[in-house]
Amino acid sequence: MGKKKLNTVPCPICDGSIDGIAVEEESITEAKRIPVLVPAKCSNGHQVILFVDKKFTVRDVEAAGKVVDEDSDEGSVNKALKWMDGF
Ligand SMILES: [Zn+2]
Repeated sequence: MGKKKLNTVPCPICDGSIDGIAVEEESITEAKRIPVLVPAKCSNGHQVILFVDKKFTVRDVEAAGKVVDEDSDEGSVNKALKWMDGF
């Protein structure tokens, strides 16, 4: 039980650091699908999605607007961004 801190990764937009991101352990250990998508922000405020594997390691980082994952719990944020992209 508790929170796990993820490793620091570079922002795909500005190369700034994304650190200090913590997730609930159960959100990873009990996830139905791996990697788990974790929304985060870089030090410059860019919205990104972290792809986290079962060992709490960040496997990939994407700018939030680019992620296409209809089933994700973070869908509302991404849908809003996708709508904006469409205009
Ligand atoms: Zn950034």
